[in-house]
Amino acid sequence: MKIESRLAQIGSICDPVTGAISFPIYQATAFRHPELGQSTGFDYSRTKSPTRKVLEDAIAELEAGDAGFGCSSGMAALQTVFALFAQGDHLLVSLDLYGGTYRLLEQVMSRFGITASYVDTNDLDGLAAHYRPETKALLIETPTNPLMMITDIERVCAWAKSKELLTIVDNTLLTPFFQRPLELGADIVVHSATKYLGGHNDVLAGLIVTKGKELSERMAFLHNSIGAVLGPQDSWLLARGMKTLALRMERHQYNATAIAHWLDKHEAVEEVYYPALEQHPQFAIQQRQSSGNTGILSFRVKDARYVAPILRHIKLIAFAESLGGVESLMTYPAVQTHADIPEEIRRQVGVDDRLLRFSVGIEHADDLIEDLAQAFAAAKQQIEEA
Ligand code: PLP
Repeated sequence: MKIESRLAQIGSICDPVTGAISFPIYQATAFRHPELGQSTGFDYSRTKSPTRKVLEDAIAELEAGDAGFGCSSGMAALQTVFALFAQGDHLLVSLDLYGGTYRLLEQVMSRFGITASYVDTNDLDGLAAHYRPETKALLIETPTNPLMMITDIERVCAWAKSKELLTIVDNTLLTPFFQRPLELGADIVVHSATKYLGGHNDVLAGLIVTKGKELSERMAFLHNSIGAVLGPQDSWLLARGMKTLALRMERHQYNATAIAHWLDKHEAVEEVYYPALEQHPQFAIQQRQSSGNTGILSFRVKDARYVAPILRHIKLIAFAESLGGVESLMTYPAVQTHADIPEEIRRQVGVDDRLLRFSVGIEHADDLIEDLAQAFAAAKQQIEEA
């Protein structure tokens, strides 16, 4: 079946007793054993829970992986994956990435002796230059958050395999509807499912998908041992959101493309970062490896004085710190999502005080453009009057 059908049918088991279309929320934490040495497959809900299993099986299948793991947040998913590594291990990581991932690596994992180097993951010479005998994995975001840089997944996975490194891809911004990194050679996919997969700005969740029996078994062990698992209510809510992923992603893409073109022509905007624009440096790679584009874009205004009044005057678009939901949100990465990245590194990458990130929702594109237009106009007036 096509992915749209598989998404819509997540958990649509036919309950022989009630005929219920939606799958049940099993709140139980303990499960009765039929006999000594026997199990129904469920013993204790940290290890395995029936409601979470529906979600985990669905994401594993959608990402073309072998096993899925529901976690209490995207950060919990990343922390569980990082537990694969030990003291002395080193990771190669995308130069531009979510600030929380940077914070976890630099302020938490570093205390356990795990280090990371931040590299342009399209530059194989740069990757090779940072490679060390103790390097164990490559972690990429593509597109990156917030600068929308694209990595050629197949190319870096082939390089990583030649060095016997694991490749981990944070697929939050595109979801398996538009991009499936495991099909391109990656070993592990992680998601902040709080974003597009949940889709409604109302559930905090993370997902991990692994490829291969051995890696899946190691991840199952870590997932159960660490215990940062997703509860049954949130598992159900997340899977319910995922049923409409195809429709939502298509609308997010349509709206974001219209807005990227509008911003690109605006006199107050210096640069728009959106992979569907032909001037995007990795436009061709994105076209080849993904079947569509995310609903996130970033733009740099020419004058930093525009930022505060734009954020004050947007009405339909909320000034808030997340992405991927049906409601449009605008974020100021330098002081919000990426504040924990030292200013010097942020500036080097391009996350400066003139950059705004826009998570384009599924409202009508005309209404969003009208809201932006009035906010830009109010900002202009305020600057001129000052
Ligand atoms: N990865 C990416 C790309 C993100 O944008 C985020 C959150 O913004 C995370 C991971 C962390 O996810 P969560 O907020 O669900 O813990």
